[in-house]
Amino acid sequence: MVEEISKVVIIGSGPAACTAAIYAARAQLDPIMVKGFEEGGQLTTTPEVGNWPGALGDPSGFDIMQNMIKHVEALEVKTISDVVVETDLSGGVKRLKLSGGQELFTRAVIVATGARARYLGIDSEPKFKGKGISACATCDGMFFRNKDVAVIGGGSVAFIEALFLSNLCNKVYLIHRREGFRAEQILVERVNEKVKQGKMELILNAKVTEYLGDGLLNGIMLDVKGESRKVDLNGVFVAIGHSPATDFLKGQVELDDKGYIVTNKCKTPVTATSVPGVFAAGDCSFPEYHQAVVAAGQGCQAALDAEQYLLGIS
Ligand code: NAP
Repeated sequence: MVEEISKVVIIGSGPAACTAAIYAARAQLDPIMVKGFEEGGQLTTTPEVGNWPGALGDPSGFDIMQNMIKHVEALEVKTISDVVVETDLSGGVKRLKLSGGQELFTRAVIVATGARARYLGIDSEPKFKGKGISACATCDGMFFRNKDVAVIGGGSVAFIEALFLSNLCNKVYLIHRREGFRAEQILVERVNEKVKQGKMELILNAKVTEYLGDGLLNGIMLDVKGESRKVDLNGVFVAIGHSPATDFLKGQVELDDKGYIVTNKCKTPVTATSVPGVFAAGDCSFPEYHQAVVAAGQGCQAALDAEQYLLGIS
């Protein structure tokens, strides 16, 4: 049996994948989109999105993604609700195997599988997600204006989020599990300035043991060097890193030490990976920003890069 070979398969269904699908469809590439089982990606869990340009009235991330998927479907993109579990990307025709057993053959692949924010994993955490616990200060900080909040983590993202929040909130606790920080020194110095001004407090050698509240978060219990401490607050921003959804690409495409797909980044074609014909966009390849609008922009770049590749230009 002769297998049908598509021009491009897009893996994912978040802002990067949807934008790639829209551009690829309009370029007559007849894309197929493998959407995963949780359609829409990370943004669907954000209750209100205030920074998507043009979306006035803080629509939910769920609504934004539903509209994006409707846009994709209106362009007659074939979508499949499944995940890719195995790939052979080496030749000019790539093979993708889905969990249901179906195999897709394609000349180009755009990977836009995203990354998931890591949470602490303690029992009381799930019930306060979106009700006081967030993993994105840029997205949700505005809801905690003039309130007391905490940021968990000792890396650059935790420090940047804490500094951002210190301009909005009454007080910011930065809670870290040890004394040394991974964050860049300049960020540590800026945080120390805020501590001196009384806007921030560092709580080191500390781990969160419980989230407290009745519906909405109103405090946390900490274990600080074996001593129990209660902190009253309204918001917790967990900034302990992200995990890219790239396990299915191990051994096929170059990944960095944290599993992010290595792309050209500054050199065109910017979304090209180590494998010709395979492109990557959004949080699975670009951990620095974690913003939907950035992912969407990269989805556009990936579609344009794939189009040039298929035309034999790059
Ligand atoms: P990161 O650098 O890996 O830091 C994660 C932090 O979370 C670490 O302090 C870690 O503690 C802590 N952590 C991990 N698991 C934890 C747990 N279960 N409980 C409590 N704490 C936990 O991650 P990131 O801050 O998200 O940054 C991601 C990457 O982007 C990094 O490479 C970073 O350098 C880069 N970045 C750079 C900039 C910049 O301005 N140059 C800005 C943002 C991000 P330990 O330290 O004890 O392991």
